[in-house]
Amino acid sequence: MSELDELYPEVLAAHVRHPRRYGLHPHPTITVHERSSTCGDEVTLQLLLDGDRIVGAAWTGEGCMISRASASILADQLPGLSTADVALRIASFRTSIRSRGSIPVDEELLGDAAALGGASRVVARATCALLPWIAAESALRATASAVIHGDPLDAGGRESGG
Ligand SMILES: [Zn+2]
Repeated sequence: MSELDELYPEVLAAHVRHPRRYGLHPHPTITVHERSSTCGDEVTLQLLLDGDRIVGAAWTGEGCMISRASASILADQLPGLSTADVALRIASFRTSIRSRGSIPVDEELLGDAAALGGASRVVARATCALLPWIAAESALRATASAVIHGDPLDAGGRESGG
């Protein structure tokens, strides 16, 4: 396997050709924009939340194959997760991607993101792979602060279920 094949496995090419959840949503709960200073990649990520559960995700972006594939992979697995689940996945992915290849991406937890593991051996590529995940982290942080500082719509509280 050449280094190029390792960096750009077929699963990434498939996400670039047919990006999942691409295109902005008209009524997102939150929109965040992140730009990589190293490669100039840009990603806009939108989340739709119902309480602490993500019920929708959308993105657009400009940049290299790694960052676009990573955004597609991430956006595709967000709906249905709780914000805590997402935080866990971001932490796991970041640890692997920053490990210079010593900690493989947890495929059971992160699915197609395991294909981005090859990027961890090249610092510049690792930054590209991480960009959408950093956007997701910013979105979670912004949402959490909105909950703390904002004016809750359902001030009476809402029980789970029903
Ligand atoms: Zn890039």
